[in-house]
Amino acid sequence: MKKITILIPAYNEEEVLPQLMERLNKVTRSIPQYAFEYLFINDGSSDQTLEILKKQKIQDSRIRYMDLSRNFGKETAMLAGFDNARGDAVIILDADLQQPPETIPEMIQWWEQGYEDVYAIRKKRDGETRRKEWTSKIFYKVIDKMSPTKVYPQAGDFRLLDRKCIDALKQIRENERYTKGMYGWIGFKKKEIQYVADERAAGVTKWSWSNLFKLAMDGITSYSTVPLKIWSYIGFFISFIAFLFLAFEIGKTFLFGTDVAGYPTLLAAILFLGGIQLISLGVIGEYLGRVFVETKRRPPYFIRETSEDESIETDDKD
Ligand code: UDP
Ligand code: MG
Repeated sequence: MKKITILIPAYNEEEVLPQLMERLNKVTRSIPQYAFEYLFINDGSSDQTLEILKKQKIQDSRIRYMDLSRNFGKETAMLAGFDNARGDAVIILDADLQQPPETIPEMIQWWEQGYEDVYAIRKKRDGETRRKEWTSKIFYKVIDKMSPTKVYPQAGDFRLLDRKCIDALKQIRENERYTKGMYGWIGFKKKEIQYVADERAAGVTKWSWSNLFKLAMDGITSYSTVPLKIWSYIGFFISFIAFLFLAFEIGKTFLFGTDVAGYPTLLAAILFLGGIQLISLGVIGEYLGRVFVETKRRPPYFIRETSEDESIETDDKD
């Protein structure tokens, strides 16, 4: 019997968990030829998420959980899931039911046909604000343009990954993770399917603007060196403009004998160049910061407790 892990990172999701379990159970009951494990990564929730999981585990032995020592973010929570998943395939699912679990059987069908990474893209976005739709569209466009490997736009983390992909992803131990870029980078046979995105079932989104900005920065700086290189082009361009401006001023003085106004042009040039320099310094800082974080080689996360703690022997039948 093939085993499939449903990996669910959860951060303050107490409100949706009962609903999630209900929908998941309905789906997994419809495909009894597979053994499932529900692997929850509690990402430092400050609500009752862990307590609810513990309670549900008593009723359903397929549930496993890892309790991280603090909130590490979804990217790292997923890594903790990859490290601990036992399935022949892993399906990553958000806890908030924005991604319908009903898509899972279709994913498995494609997996059985030999695809190693079956990812679901959203067809229509029902319950999302315009702002988010707009920002994510631009975000993916920019990343794909800058990235040397193909980034699959609109493809999120909702996907089935074969054991081979999981073993590959586990080897990437970057701390500032941008997993969406890794799926393309590791390769393997990919298949795209579609799903209709739902509204968040309950609770509020955990993404804030600053989160989004950080993810965008991580996404760009971990997959592209374009921001580092672009400044030389801009520098050339500015020098060229400055040269033209100078030639124009000199020509004007020679031909018409007009006075050269001193300080406004000077000030404009200084401020303009100063700004450019600060921006490029910031870009270098961004990369340097990444190098700094990675050279520390810290473990990406810590686990406080797991569902296996008390019953390692009895739990490990498989
Ligand atoms: N999540 C997490 N850690 C975080 C933020 C989010 O594990 O720091 C989980 C969250 O519980 C959910 C998934 O990641 O299962 C997606 O989060 P959310 O729905 O808030 O993001 P959105 O769908 O708005 O992009
Ligand atoms: Mg969500």
